[in-house]
Amino acid sequence: MPQRPIYLDAHATTPMDRRVLDAMLPYFTEHFGNPSTNSHLYGWEASAAVKTAREAIASIINATPEEIVFTSGATEANNLAIKGVAEAYFSQGKHIITIATEHRAVLDPCRYLETLGFEVTYLPVQPDGILNLAKLTTAIREDTILVSVMAANNEIGVLQPLKEIGEICHSHEVLFHTDAAQAIAKIPLNVAAMNIDLMSLTAHKIYGPKGIGALYVRRRNPRVKVASQLQGGGQEKGRRSGTLYTPQIVGFAKALEIGVAEMALESERLFKLKMQLWSMLKSLPGIQLNGNLTNRLQGNLNISIEGVNGSALILALHSVVAVSSGSACSSTSTTPSHVLTALGRDENLAHASLRFGIGRFNTAAEIETVGKQAIATIKSLRQANKL
Ligand SMILES: *Cc1c(COP(=O)(O)O)cnc(C)c1O
Repeated sequence: MPQRPIYLDAHATTPMDRRVLDAMLPYFTEHFGNPSTNSHLYGWEASAAVKTAREAIASIINATPEEIVFTSGATEANNLAIKGVAEAYFSQGKHIITIATEHRAVLDPCRYLETLGFEVTYLPVQPDGILNLAKLTTAIREDTILVSVMAANNEIGVLQPLKEIGEICHSHEVLFHTDAAQAIAKIPLNVAAMNIDLMSLTAHKIYGPKGIGALYVRRRNPRVKVASQLQGGGQEKGRRSGTLYTPQIVGFAKALEIGVAEMALESERLFKLKMQLWSMLKSLPGIQLNGNLTNRLQGNLNISIEGVNGSALILALHSVVAVSSGSACSSTSTTPSHVLTALGRDENLAHASLRFGIGRFNTAAEIETVGKQAIATIKSLRQANKL
């Protein structure tokens, strides 16, 4: 049987941890009740499981259980945060600030709001991918209601200064939302210490199931309102209707608990693997690192390669390693990554990029194999381009 390619695409999604699956299984079959049913044992069991999971998730980010709204993932959480705040606060102002390197699940709701008469400022980032705080302060206006800045970027892994951004927002009495889909369980996140008012989470990037996530919505100092984007049975205190997906919620909490418990050791291990790969690749001429090397997710390496076509390279490597050039959602499009162009990379270099996402189940031997193969393939493609 041919070997399957080595998976180095942990920013797109991750395999589920066996421990997460084991925690979920009873809730598909035996304990299948509707958590909103309060008239019999099946409902009580499901409701108790959701309660325990909600408490665990809340406590990990230093929130209270009432501040957690379960959603289908980070896309829905971002939509609820951005459109929900816009709808609840438009009488106080119609200006929103975000950054150019956000995920499309933030950019597209913002663009949609522009069609409804909101004004959005898309702040540029510095060449290393990080937001200049002075630019943020200058951009805040009398009618600004929301600042949305991601915690960790899904293409280049850079970490934004959340605590500082939170302080600026707080002192200007503007709400602060962060898309933490890539950051949760990778870096410590504390909504109180970081002055975060809304935070989007998802389980499938942290070895949990797909189709489940949450939005943290602050209840005190200030009490944040979000207009529901899904009306119906009134679950989640009316903020998000729909029958709660008990097995996924149990799995989400389990994935988060494991991720946070193992975070310190795993970060160190991923850092070593990343540096192993980077020191191999940078031995070639014409390789540029995209994004700040130190202030980034430990499992992320994103490079631009002079003299090769990015998609040709990924195709040539596909039987050895599963990687992508940028975000999973835009990997089929021919326009260069909006994140890399925001760093000032020209179109050719933005096209010739590789994003490695190293994860929990990768080994040093796999990195060695991938590094060697990538180097050989880059050399031969460059040779062929010269002919
Ligand atoms: C993956 C991702 C999303 C989308 O999350 P889903 O749970 O798949 O909807 C949003 N933002 C960022 C930064 C991501 O990496």
